[in-house]
Amino acid sequence: MRLAPFAIALALTAGTATAAPTGRENSPPGDFHPELRAITGAISPGELKDTLTALVGFGTRHTLSETKSGTRGIGAARRWVKARFERISRNCGGCLEIITPSQVVTGPRIPKPVKVEDVVAILRGTSDPQRVIVITGHLDSRVTDIMNSISDAPGADDDGSGTAAVIEAARVLSHHRFPATLVFGVDSGEEQGLYGGRVLAEYAVAHGWRVEADLNNDIIGGIKGEDGVIDNTTVRLFAQGIKSTLTPQQLRALNYTGGEVDSPSRNLARFIVTLAPRYVEHLHVRLIYRTDRYERGGDQVEFLNAGYPAVRFTERSENYTHEHQDVRVIDGKQYGDVLSGVDSPYLAKVTALNAVTMAALARAPAPPEGVAIGGAVTVNTTVRWKPVPGAVGYRVWWRDTTTPAWQHSRWVPADTAARDKSGTLSLTLAEVNIDDWFFGVSAISADGYASPVVFPGPNGDFARSVPPANPRD
Ligand SMILES: [Zn+2]
Repeated sequence: MRLAPFAIALALTAGTATAAPTGRENSPPGDFHPELRAITGAISPGELKDTLTALVGFGTRHTLSETKSGTRGIGAARRWVKARFERISRNCGGCLEIITPSQVVTGPRIPKPVKVEDVVAILRGTSDPQRVIVITGHLDSRVTDIMNSISDAPGADDDGSGTAAVIEAARVLSHHRFPATLVFGVDSGEEQGLYGGRVLAEYAVAHGWRVEADLNNDIIGGIKGEDGVIDNTTVRLFAQGIKSTLTPQQLRALNYTGGEVDSPSRNLARFIVTLAPRYVEHLHVRLIYRTDRYERGGDQVEFLNAGYPAVRFTERSENYTHEHQDVRVIDGKQYGDVLSGVDSPYLAKVTALNAVTMAALARAPAPPEGVAIGGAVTVNTTVRWKPVPGAVGYRVWWRDTTTPAWQHSRWVPADTAARDKSGTLSLTLAEVNIDDWFFGVSAISADGYASPVVFPGPNGDFARSVPPANPRD
């Protein structure tokens, strides 16, 4: 129904600099990628189960647990993860760099100084290694008393599942090479206050990484929720709407012009939603317009605080008799985060979606920067953006302001796009009134990989943003 006005608009503007279709160069490259299907096919429920079994075997992985034992506690578990990454690297010709960033921290849940150490594998990008796609899960576990570092805390689902996903994604993706860098982060200290997420986010800042996504996986393996429903086909994806780092001035502008549902994290989430039906069978992504579950948190929060886009995957409905509980059976009911609470085939699907997302982001050009719109008090809207290295074209998107997913798009070949003296590209959408729609731009590679859509302005920009030292600026 909405196509008619555009048909008229095209007729009116043909021959002007509005990038109306002219024929041959207007065919975008195909956007179905057998490589992504192959990645899904290589994810193994058996490998995930083996990893979970090994992790649970350490008894507890509490952040304050012992570190000297070879068989029990967080130290042994960290060394096991490092050895697992090293084995994966040997099988890909030494393709992974393995680092263990750490900080000594104290806090409300860490009374004495403790070294919080992450175990991180890096698959360096071949042409733009400072572009970075991160996946995270947390290794540490807990029981009912958050300070109890002695009792068995199997942490199968929270967060053995996320840790296993990170390792399995590394195993499978290590057989591929990408223009951008992939980072596989196994964090510690999450339950004591998101310390491991902060350690890795600060490492990223210190090394100048341009992190385009942190995909945090926390509690992603259970299919039987507290509500009794068994659902192995749905995963929740939490994504914030307003960046954590906007200034009061930027917030006021956003409040006036709209776009509070279009942070890069949210458009990253929309990107993931579109991948699932094409590359992971029987997995529906339920996008939730929240940073995390209500009044709860995860390691993605520390990436958001550092000014990076980040989202959180969690199973459809959590089982609170498993989470954060002493292991016990009462009246025949199992409490505690035991291995039987994780379904490996379901975990494999969520892992596959993560791996496919990482590959799709790393193959695509970077998300466009400098995205802006203009056209107030006219009937047309002009969308502007800076050229992206490696992009053969762009797709300009628009949608109703109350609609959650991008609706309409126009393909813009890079070689024929309107370009001003400074090199900025633009497309004028005739008779698309700026007041009535939300707009965005995605960059497309020669082989048809698309970046996430970027919304105009500070809230939409994927580039890292930090609040000024003086928050009144
Ligand atoms: Zn957790």
